[in-house]
Amino acid sequence: MPHVITQACCNDASCVFACPVNCIHPTPDEPDFATSEMLYIDPDACVDCGACVRACPVDAIVPHTKVVTEQLPFLDINRSFYPERPQGVKLPPTSKLAPVLPAAELHQRGKYPLTVAIVGSGPAAMYAADELLTQQGVLVNMFEKLPTPYGLVRAGVAPDHQRTKLATRLFDEISWRRGFQFFLNVEVGRHVSHADLLQHHHAVLYASGALHDRRLEIEGMGLAGTGTATEIVGWYNGHPEFTGLPVDLSHERVVIVGNGNVALDVARILTSDPDRLVHTDIADYALAALRDSAVSEVVIVARRGPASSAFTLPELVGLTQTAEVVLDAHDHARVREDLATVQDNLTRQKLEILTKLGDASAPITRPRIRLAYELTPGRVLGQQRCTAVEFTVMGTDQVQRIDAGMVLSSIGYHGTPIADLPFDDNAGVVPNKGGRVIDPQTGQRVPGAYVSGWIKRGTNGFIGSNKSDSLKTIQTLAADYNAGLLTEPIAGPRAVARMVHAQQPDVIDAAGWKIIDKAEIARGAAQDRPRVKFTRVADMLDEVKDHSDLPLLQNMLGALRRS
Ligand code: SF4
Repeated sequence: MPHVITQACCNDASCVFACPVNCIHPTPDEPDFATSEMLYIDPDACVDCGACVRACPVDAIVPHTKVVTEQLPFLDINRSFYPERPQGVKLPPTSKLAPVLPAAELHQRGKYPLTVAIVGSGPAAMYAADELLTQQGVLVNMFEKLPTPYGLVRAGVAPDHQRTKLATRLFDEISWRRGFQFFLNVEVGRHVSHADLLQHHHAVLYASGALHDRRLEIEGMGLAGTGTATEIVGWYNGHPEFTGLPVDLSHERVVIVGNGNVALDVARILTSDPDRLVHTDIADYALAALRDSAVSEVVIVARRGPASSAFTLPELVGLTQTAEVVLDAHDHARVREDLATVQDNLTRQKLEILTKLGDASAPITRPRIRLAYELTPGRVLGQQRCTAVEFTVMGTDQVQRIDAGMVLSSIGYHGTPIADLPFDDNAGVVPNKGGRVIDPQTGQRVPGAYVSGWIKRGTNGFIGSNKSDSLKTIQTLAADYNAGLLTEPIAGPRAVARMVHAQQPDVIDAAGWKIIDKAEIARGAAQDRPRVKFTRVADMLDEVKDHSDLPLLQNMLGALRRS
């Protein structure tokens, strides 16, 4: 098997289009692409050219000769995506090459070049900018609430998944392109309004994600010690809004309700040997708290059975290689029952891994993770602080109590409304057609407003899934521009910088972000870490002010002149 895709796969699909023999699937035009946990190389069709390795933004593809021990399961995982056939027999070719989604084409109109404001700076925002900037002369202004860009890649990916964070290399490269400008530390809806942006741009594209967890609505959620897994992710990743989270690890057990990848991440970090994390970019205060932690078990609880586990196969493989994961005897029995009847290959592979887990009755010798199934949360117990959770065993009246000093929910995200745009509260998305925002009352387009990423399609997919999603939004936006449906900005490109600076003097531009980035990397280098993050906005601003030779506005205007 010449090449293999491994755990870090981000589903960006750049490799698909780089492959000369179309042996990486699913491709973005195939129906299972949107739900696929990763992409897979057909071992019998791969001709070992290495083109995909160079295309992958997160270094997830390796030749089989360089597969390291923990990547070995991915040989089978790649192979088993394809139907069994006699050795050497290739699949009938569907097409010579994967069909590349056509790039948006612009026909210049009006006085100013197409100028687009993008709100948010995570993967959906960066991929949208990437697509827009393939067109000559287009201007992209990116607005981000924090002084640092890249959204969940910086503040959501677990610190021990540094390879996934390599996507920032691609994002840096996009942000250096002619026509791109950062307006960081600027909150849309606070410092500038949707109307302000629309006046200065042909279009405003929201790629601000789905920031909030769905809440677990049971009695006792709200006691000290309860919260969401995402808050803990923000805390250990040094997100300024979660730096002050009162995280108390002076107890033995944490319960997480919900068993998706975020739950696995949090459980893995809370049970990790701090020495394993010491060379990552985890926040210093979080590392110190983990060193003092008394937590010896994190229980990840799911309402449904093992076959319905929400975590992905690559994450389960990674988890079992780095943490001690156990099951109770009755859950082992449930796994065996599910394995006897399972139909689909992916679930079978997950169940096979679960059958090999240790038994929870063994004494706890180091912090561990217990997966528990078929338990419905009833209420959290405690006076001021939580002390336990009561569950009902599925299909019975039996109540099971699990003692815990921290209870976290991890049952998915929900988008939050965006000022001045319609919102579908049930779906947690901005109503849209192909990324074009639609007013549900009238069925008409909301002039100049577009969405991409989770706020467009809901909370599904991985970092790279946003690439094809953003491309589709940009195709829609370009069609509207070509049809003359977008209004010209009221003034030229420099007016945006003046407007923003008047309303938020502490705006950070690309030069400012570079100062923060360089300082974090330098702080990290001294400790053999990729970076030591600033976790307070004030410290980030001080760093920029201390190292800027020019006032921020001059920096920004200088960048404009260069563009
Ligand atoms: Fe395709 Fe070449 Fe990568 Fe094999 S090594 S999957 S042939 S691009």
